[in-house]
Amino acid sequence: MRYDLIIIGAGSSGLMIADQLNNTNLKVLLLEGSKRIGTKLLMTGNGRCNVLSSDSPSELEKAIHNGRFLRTAYHKYDLHNFFKKHKLPLKQENRRLYPASEKARDVVECFRIHNVHLQKKQKVSDLIFENNKIVGVKTDNQEFYGKNIVVCAGGKSYPQSGSDGSMHKILKKYGVKFTNIYPSEVALKYPDFVGLSGLSLNKVKMFNKKRNFIGSILFTHKGISGPVAISMGEFVARGEGDTFLDFLPDYTEEQLFDCLWEDKNYLKDKFPKRFYSHIMQYFPTTNPNKKEIRKFITNKIKRYQFNNVMTFPIEYAFTTAGGVSLKEISPKNCEHKRIKNLYFAGEILDLHGEIGGYNLMIAWYTGMIVADAIKDKFNIPEGD
Ligand SMILES: Cc1cc2nc3c(=O)[nH]c(=O)nc-3n(C[C@H](O)[C@H](O)[C@H](O)COP(=O)(O)OP(=O)(O)OC[C@H]3O[C@@H](n4cnc5c(N)ncnc54)[C@H](O)[C@@H]3O)c2cc1C
Repeated sequence: MRYDLIIIGAGSSGLMIADQLNNTNLKVLLLEGSKRIGTKLLMTGNGRCNVLSSDSPSELEKAIHNGRFLRTAYHKYDLHNFFKKHKLPLKQENRRLYPASEKARDVVECFRIHNVHLQKKQKVSDLIFENNKIVGVKTDNQEFYGKNIVVCAGGKSYPQSGSDGSMHKILKKYGVKFTNIYPSEVALKYPDFVGLSGLSLNKVKMFNKKRNFIGSILFTHKGISGPVAISMGEFVARGEGDTFLDFLPDYTEEQLFDCLWEDKNYLKDKFPKRFYSHIMQYFPTTNPNKKEIRKFITNKIKRYQFNNVMTFPIEYAFTTAGGVSLKEISPKNCEHKRIKNLYFAGEILDLHGEIGGYNLMIAWYTGMIVADAIKDKFNIPEGD
């Protein structure tokens, strides 16, 4: 049997493509390496799944690395309507949308893929080319032939979810170019605060010369986690210069100086007890002069510098930054420019976003682009 389309990977983007082609008469094969579909999707948002962001197209373009690649898609596809049609009511918290049930499982189950031929435990181990054209895929025990192949195999993070980077290696063998791969949305490894493990601070600012994030952090037994640290992770991994923490972003250095000069115990009710004790060990003790207090404020409160900070390895990152180089991919249909009939969707591409639903939006949008390209090829009107 020769399929019209073989989808490699039944994760977020693979499910979207399968769903979009479910009611066509195309012969679609969905190959999943593990024994379950949507494993990473089930893990999202702590099991609640931050399925979308409410951002406008221009905001999405900013929040997504290489976001311009999807410019047409932001306008063309209505993802809110997609979930409405799929009977998945959403609820909004700030700019983030979750299933109203707060169950990631409901997202996995909303995809309609019953007409698609799904095969689990079929890990693709190679591609098949004939006369320089891609014609199929190999798994450990079988060969499958298809007119078109789409790689939806995800990134390299959380390999236990099935997205283990195995397709990266296979694709490189056939000359598909990848940009540098590094962890994104990842906690920081940093020894200085180990004694504070388990403690969180609700409002800090983490910054480097290019960007800043304000929100909470959580001290862990090996470093710092929490939304702010996780957002900064990719820029640490990218080596974007020195990273600093401002523990009291609502105060200027001058304001803090006035308060501390007046009252040496001023910080006491500004921090949880454990953090206060920790930070005050650096406070100059006997009759500190103005210079010493200013130095304490700068170095320990307002511009605390992380020396030799690192991120946890990519296996522990929520997302993978870097992937198939977009220079090789047409934004119109997500097809490889050189290897015709080979398409890509989702995190395997050099697209990733901040925390906030952007990574799933990348999977949904690229999935829709590929599905429409396939429909177009077989003269099936879009929307069918
Ligand atoms: C803990 C966690 C929480 C997250 N929370 C959110 C969130 O709330 N909101 C958000 O927007 N994003 C979130 N993300 C990121 C988001 O889940 C991913 O970006 C998204 O699922 C990527 O979709 P994908 O289709 O590219 O890959 P995946 O969903 O990872 O799917 C890839 C599939 O391909 C299969 N596969 C891989 N290699 C092969 C092979 N050789 N042969 C056959 N099958 C193969 C895998 O088994 C897997 O099922 C989170 C990620 C993690 C790890």
